[in-house]
Amino acid sequence: MKADLLASVRTFVATEHQLFVDGEPRPAHGGARFDVQDPASGAVLTTAARAGAADVDDAVAAARAALPGWRRLPAGERGRLLWELGNRIEALAAEFLQLEALDNGKPTGEAAAVDVPLTANGFRYFGGLATKIEGATIPTYGGLPVHVSTRREPVGVVAAIIPWNFPLLNCAYKLAPALAAGNTVVLKPAEQTPLSALRLAQLAAEVGFPPGVLNVLTGFGPEAGAPLAAHPDVDKITFTGENATGRSVLAASGGTMKRVSLELGGKSPSLVFADADLDAAVEGTFGAVYFNQGQCCVAGARIFVQRPVYDAFVEALATRVHQVRLGSGLDPATTMGPLVSASQRDRVLGLVRSGLAAGAKPVVGGATDPAEVDGCPGGYFVEPTLFVDAPPDSDIMRREIFGPVGMVTPFDTEQEAVALANDTEFGLAAGVWTRDVGRAHRVSDEIRAGVVWVNIYGWFDVAVPFGGFRASGYGKEHGIEALDAYLQTKAVWMGL
Ligand code: NAD
Repeated sequence: MKADLLASVRTFVATEHQLFVDGEPRPAHGGARFDVQDPASGAVLTTAARAGAADVDDAVAAARAALPGWRRLPAGERGRLLWELGNRIEALAAEFLQLEALDNGKPTGEAAAVDVPLTANGFRYFGGLATKIEGATIPTYGGLPVHVSTRREPVGVVAAIIPWNFPLLNCAYKLAPALAAGNTVVLKPAEQTPLSALRLAQLAAEVGFPPGVLNVLTGFGPEAGAPLAAHPDVDKITFTGENATGRSVLAASGGTMKRVSLELGGKSPSLVFADADLDAAVEGTFGAVYFNQGQCCVAGARIFVQRPVYDAFVEALATRVHQVRLGSGLDPATTMGPLVSASQRDRVLGLVRSGLAAGAKPVVGGATDPAEVDGCPGGYFVEPTLFVDAPPDSDIMRREIFGPVGMVTPFDTEQEAVALANDTEFGLAAGVWTRDVGRAHRVSDEIRAGVVWVNIYGWFDVAVPFGGFRASGYGKEHGIEALDAYLQTKAVWMGL
């Protein structure tokens, strides 16, 4: 990495970060601030403004004021700005990799392969769609003497509340369709990872987004997220995060009849049939559990393996997990970084402890103390763990772990595999590993989840709809369908 780029990243990180409201940085009312930490060391990197209810009022007012101008801007111009933003992010990829590694802890190689390109593509894809939002002419059922047409209009002011596991990418998932559809946005990044959202807002201003179209409130859920969710002048909430938080956002929004999209957690299964390409299944399920330190909503951590290949699979997956190299996300040799915070580390270690107490057997890891990593004293590391014999009703098989912990369980029949896969309140994703095309179709049909990957796992593309069933939430991100969440249809009747 070039020294001048590294220096500019360090300068940005060390800035006393402010909120971004109405096109400019500004302090929080009362001047409150919070620490931003490096999860690989626990060191304080910088501080950021800590938004409260008065800041929410200001940001919503700025978004409301910017709405008429933004929605009336020619769609081609809105699209051009989004496209330009995607290009800028791609051009500054090296900078964003550093930011994500510093703020979230993820390895730069993973951010280079996933976070940054998907973010850039997200802005470009929806930039292209901005000019394809069309209504229809409706022939009336009763043959009335009228001309009826529909218009698809932006919902208005959108509040986007996002988690810390893909800090930059989650911005794109929310902002790109919302802005393409002509809405203005107040974005609240997670308190653990505010930096890439703030850099994104700077870039948006540089490429020419008008003031107030995109506002960023850094701060905590109860202080900034909750007043946003309840704000009477917010028209729509798009939320990604934990199930319990999603419920409280839904409750808070109910009083004002806002529209709500919820992308919540999961407890996704991976089904490995005896006829599968075992090497591919091992590598795929390894990624399903351990990618992003296991901090993925789609983590396929409940692994069910057909009995004839069970022993061989467990041995091969254990060998693969042993190859993990813990370290700072900034070290190119690192294959697994720290968890995002001390509290997440402690939560995951608590779940490992509960698994052991319930009788699950670790074939790899199982440590209940933080992992010590050379060169990273104080980092929030957890040893990757692979369990067998986890009781079906244990917390590790029921609750989202959001850490590098997988459980392997044998099964005999296809029917049993489907029943095990669906034995969860969630319905976000699933993996199926088989060479039998008929089985792949049957099982995909039976699984209650918003995404099924067959012989791959965790692939994303901005053109393909993504979102959960059941307790994993509702409303799709990505694809043309994602625009629907940010549009409302108006019917215009004209008497002839
Ligand atoms: P979280 O629910 O704790 O926080 C998410 C966001 O909500 C943060 O910005 C937080 O500050 C805010 N928040 C917290 N309390 C709030 C409140 N009362 N009102 C409004 N906002 C509030 O989730 P997290 O720990 O940051 O993220 C992990 C969770 O996100 C996991 O459950 C994971 O599965 C889920 N997730 C889901 C998807 C998906 O697409 N389905 C993607 C990524 C992460």
